Amino acid sequence: CNFSAAAVPAPQESPNVMYSGIFINNEWHKSKSGKTFPTVNPTTGEIITEVQQGAKEDIDLAVDAANEAFRFNSPWRTMDASDRGLLLNRLADLMERDAAYLASLETLDNGKPYHVAYPVDIMGSIKVIRYMAGWADKNHGRVIPLDGPFMCYTRHEPVGVCGQIIPWNFPLLMMAWKIGPALSMGNTVVLKPAEQTPLTALYTAQLIKEAGFPPGVFNLVPGFGDAGAALVSNPKVDKIAFTGSTEVGLKIQQMSGVGNLKRTTLELGGKSPNIILADVDIEKAVEQAHFGLFFNQGQVCCAGSRTFIEDKIYDEFVERSVERAKKRTVGNPFDPKTEQGPQIDETQMTKILGLVKEGVNQGAKLLVGGKRVGDKGYFVEPTVFANVEDNHVIAKEEIFGPVQQLMRFKDLDEIIERANNTNYGLAAAVFSKDLDKVNYLVQGIRAGTVWVNTYNILGAQTPFGGFKDSGHGREMGIYGLNQYTEVKSIITSVARKNS
Ligand code: ADP
Repeated sequence: CNFSAAAVPAPQESPNVMYSGIFINNEWHKSKSGKTFPTVNPTTGEIITEVQQGAKEDIDLAVDAANEAFRFNSPWRTMDASDRGLLLNRLADLMERDAAYLASLETLDNGKPYHVAYPVDIMGSIKVIRYMAGWADKNHGRVIPLDGPFMCYTRHEPVGVCGQIIPWNFPLLMMAWKIGPALSMGNTVVLKPAEQTPLTALYTAQLIKEAGFPPGVFNLVPGFGDAGAALVSNPKVDKIAFTGSTEVGLKIQQMSGVGNLKRTTLELGGKSPNIILADVDIEKAVEQAHFGLFFNQGQVCCAGSRTFIEDKIYDEFVERSVERAKKRTVGNPFDPKTEQGPQIDETQMTKILGLVKEGVNQGAKLLVGGKRVGDKGYFVEPTVFANVEDNHVIAKEEIFGPVQQLMRFKDLDEIIERANNTNYGLAAAVFSKDLDKVNYLVQGIRAGTVWVNTYNILGAQTPFGGFKDSGHGREMGIYGLNQYTEVKSIITSVARKNS
């Protein structure tokens, strides 16, 4: 990944949790039901703290606040676009001020290695906020030469109240991807973080207040799927942006059309093909394929979870991949030598171990790993399977864990068909020095992102999203920005037109 080489400051191994409430109108509230839920440290299995559990009543209050903040003539609606950008830049400054704390909190709540959380999650979030801040006064409309005695211009107006539902694998980064474009374009937000990882979003809510955003512009309701569903079914919400499983994404798409017609952007699951041709620098390709799968404990929607290797180099590639996986360091995520922390929770760990068993039962060759590490926390051994067939469950289902599938192929046409033989279409990669082959494959693969001789490179400037059941709409870049505006055509009669 394009990690920043900047020195990473020392972590706070026991960061103080300061906020655990529901954030509405720039104030902290308790849940209406009086319920709380625990957030767990996946490294130890111990409870970090109790968080207020939002449900429909709390969501409805947050949506009302977001509607009030979006009211015509409100402080937010009458603010200069450049000032919205300034507020976002101030938020980025505050995140930078507290970056070591935020990264420590992310590691505590999610289990990802701190020395990755700091440059990737926290610095990546700040970059997205700054990129979107810059667009606030630049995403403007056009003047159009309409036929007849008329003048036409377009305005790019905010969509309105945006419900944003995010997952646990990149908690702060997913928040930044969502709120950056929404606030830049003048929308208001009700965000529901994942129940497993609410802590960095809670802290950032306070930073949003400190930055000076008017009350009600950003609201945050921690809770479970029922709180997310309440957001999706509230008729006063104009748009839902969701990142998570395809299973929940399908429900959200359906619910978004009941009652009112919400706009949706969905970023869902994947089973991304990583295609390695025989002409590659094998050492580099093995390392990239390893990174493409094992990064973030394998909990990445665009993970290269079907590695297709050309026949001629298959055996050597398998051998080297196993050697690399054996070297992967698993353990305390605050230790700078750790490459892999725990999985997010017991449910995920159990699901991953179950799929490993299924792989063995169906005849794939388990060459390393496959077991839980220790009996505390939710660690899984780096696992490599060879001789994986297209019809194996481990070649079809998203595992979302540190389990690599090495598959064999013979020619280019065969591989395009096999790569596309999935309902998913989030990402793919091709490794080769042969430009003609690369270009041929790049055009044939049906996926929202195709990497060439690299993997997992994402940036604030670059659109990201899926074909097919991996979702629709794009996040980040100009494409992502446009998903947070409505285009209004204003047509004015003119007494006499001249060119
Ligand atoms: P994962 O499998 O990564 O946990 P999910 O799709 O289950 O992904 O969850 C992603 C987010 O969607 C979380 O914030 C979760 O609480 C929320 N969620 C789960 N079920 C629903 C639902 N039916 N409606 C809306 N949001 C939901």
